[in-house]
Amino acid sequence: MYADIIVNLSVKSIDRPYTYRIPEDLEDKIVPGTPVMVPFGNGGRVIKGFVTGIHAGATLSDDRIKNICGICDKSNEIEEKMLSLAAWMKEQFGSTMNEAIKCCLPVKDKMENKTVSTITPGVPFETLRNALSEALEKKRTARARLYEALIDKGEIGRAYALKELKLTAATLRDEEEKGFIKITTVDEVRGPYKDITERDVPPELTPGQKLITESIKNDLREGIRSDYLIFGETGSGKTEIYMDIISECIASGKQAIMLIPEISLTYQTVSRFIRRFGDRVSIMNSRLSPGERFDQYMRAKNGLADIMIGPRSALFAPFERLGLIVMDEEHETSYKSESSPAYHAREVALRRAAIEGASVILGSATPSLESYAMAKAGRLKLFKLTGRTGNAVHPDVYLVDMREELRKKNRTMFSYTLREQIENRLAKKEQVMLFLNRRGYSTSVSCRECGTVIKCPHCDVTMTLHKDGRMICHYCGYNAERPSLCPKCGSRYIGTFGAGTQKIEEELKKIWPQARIIRMDSDSVRRKGSMDECLKTFERGGADILLGTQMIVKGHDFPNVTLVGILLADLSLYSPDLRSGERTFELIAQASGRAGRGSKKGMVVIQTYDPENYAIVSAAKRDYESFFEEEMAYRVTMGYPPAGIMLAINLSSEKEDVLEESAGRLAKIVRNLYSDSGRFKVIGPAKASLYKIKDIFHMVIYVKTYDGKGLRALGDELRQKAALNVAEGVRVEYNYNN
Ligand code: ADP
Ligand code: ZN
Ligand code: ZN
Repeated sequence: MYADIIVNLSVKSIDRPYTYRIPEDLEDKIVPGTPVMVPFGNGGRVIKGFVTGIHAGATLSDDRIKNICGICDKSNEIEEKMLSLAAWMKEQFGSTMNEAIKCCLPVKDKMENKTVSTITPGVPFETLRNALSEALEKKRTARARLYEALIDKGEIGRAYALKELKLTAATLRDEEEKGFIKITTVDEVRGPYKDITERDVPPELTPGQKLITESIKNDLREGIRSDYLIFGETGSGKTEIYMDIISECIASGKQAIMLIPEISLTYQTVSRFIRRFGDRVSIMNSRLSPGERFDQYMRAKNGLADIMIGPRSALFAPFERLGLIVMDEEHETSYKSESSPAYHAREVALRRAAIEGASVILGSATPSLESYAMAKAGRLKLFKLTGRTGNAVHPDVYLVDMREELRKKNRTMFSYTLREQIENRLAKKEQVMLFLNRRGYSTSVSCRECGTVIKCPHCDVTMTLHKDGRMICHYCGYNAERPSLCPKCGSRYIGTFGAGTQKIEEELKKIWPQARIIRMDSDSVRRKGSMDECLKTFERGGADILLGTQMIVKGHDFPNVTLVGILLADLSLYSPDLRSGERTFELIAQASGRAGRGSKKGMVVIQTYDPENYAIVSAAKRDYESFFEEEMAYRVTMGYPPAGIMLAINLSSEKEDVLEESAGRLAKIVRNLYSDSGRFKVIGPAKASLYKIKDIFHMVIYVKTYDGKGLRALGDELRQKAALNVAEGVRVEYNYNN
């Protein structure tokens, strides 16, 4: 047996691991991630390396391959722990070891700190003015420009002097030596959080919160490593719980990672942590430059920070003494990486914590099926946090059957109930939020008379309508002609439907010309900062109605909103996704949570063509348990996660015919590999739901099974065969449980 080994963790050697022979007595002890001692270079100096892969054959001739000397003793180095995490990720998510290492040890090259230099006068203004006259006389125009700018502005940036005033560095140096100017250089200010100096005093926790914090803190104190799920609606006080426990964690000398989905990583949220924990907080987000990223990373590594806040990439903060990982809104889709390794932050968090003896707290108002199933199985300790803080009460919820409206000849987007309620709020000068669910919009075929949606007979997911008029299942490739009559009730009101926010805005203006409306969708807020502006205007009472897509349901608190209307609750049900029910429940629950956040009681009107659907009914009743039971039963029947496991093999290429041919060939190989009767089900190849993106075509093959171990065990073989059998230029990626 041979092992691929990287000898130090710089970018270059990761890209090119070296092959070593595994001595027989070590064969069963060496796995990817194991730290080993190997002879290296001509002198054969023994150094430390890490195993990245194991294989039976080697391309080099045998006499040129050296033996591994031995296994290193377990040490506590952070790189080692991260490598063992990488090795696990490689297996779990089907990436290469290199991809996994790059993900776990992300920052390699030192980035220079960005600096800013400023030029100020070194002499009194009077002297400068004289120098200016003299320079103009002697036609020393460059210097004249410098003096003029300094007289005019008082100070200028060095970059400005070089670029705009076209001065040379030599001239500036000369002027500095003469004492005419002063140049001061400081590190560029990093992040807008530097100015937050005030500190918050933690509030007295409610008895409900205390029950949870005491229980978890007790475990921490006694060294009991455990993982937890806190199930509590938005505003119930989960963040205060996280902060209380983090505070205990860092007081005991440990460090904590706080994961927050990118979309919720706002100034407001982050500053709350800074006001509590000061400069022991480090922040990662996608807006950081590589230099800033490096900075934050090194702060963590050098022990200058105890808390790392960020989206899923913050999971890989190089903390030596990790004690806690908190994952807020753990159900969020952005926790899943789409590129290789296509990992889910929840799984990695649980794994990293286990490796390092840390604990994980997951928090959500609408837990993922994965987490709740784990809680039910006892893998997570479950805490429920009920009731909102303050005196806000739950809104009344009305479910409106839009098929009835059609029968009553109401063809508008607003049911009679909703119209009446909007009228009422406008009169009372209270605010309204109207929410249009745009997931799956216009690509599904459904009946407005009976609510039927056309689904794939094999996969039970919604079929997608294509421009050529055929409906396709993006799980298995099954396709059919678009029907002209509803297959269930015979109605001719079948087709794609749903209106854009623009059309709804027009309708609103027609009915209520006096109402002030803000429309928010991805088109209207494309301009940077305009989203915050819109929200602020609405918060100040600058509008009566806020109309928007899912982007308006997240996190914002508007105390004067007493009515929330969900215009087409079922649209997300129609998206071709095995988690469409889960997303629908989540969206309704969140949208409803926007009503009555202040002291006034709120109301929610949910409009739907499918009022019996369990996701909608249980969301309206705020009954997560029933939803979970039904949804889980569906996943079990269909073999979908978390009951079963699915491997998606994604192929992509610029050339459509080459892609199709390779996908067909690979599907045959996959069928052969997983031929084990009945245990695995190979589906496809099919065109991906987004078939053509930026001129690249995408196809997918699925393997479905209840035997996750068996599926992964064949991962390496599959990758090797795929590499040999797909055409050049066809990219293959693996994605478990997408
Ligand atoms: P969640 O994270 O569940 O959405 P938060 O922790 O953000 O909830 O709490 C919602 C609001 O209630 C915040 O403004 C928070 O400061 C406040 N709050 C939470 N717990 C308490 C408490 N024990 N006493 C006073 N205010 C609290
Ligand atoms: Zn019908
Ligand atoms: Zn299908």
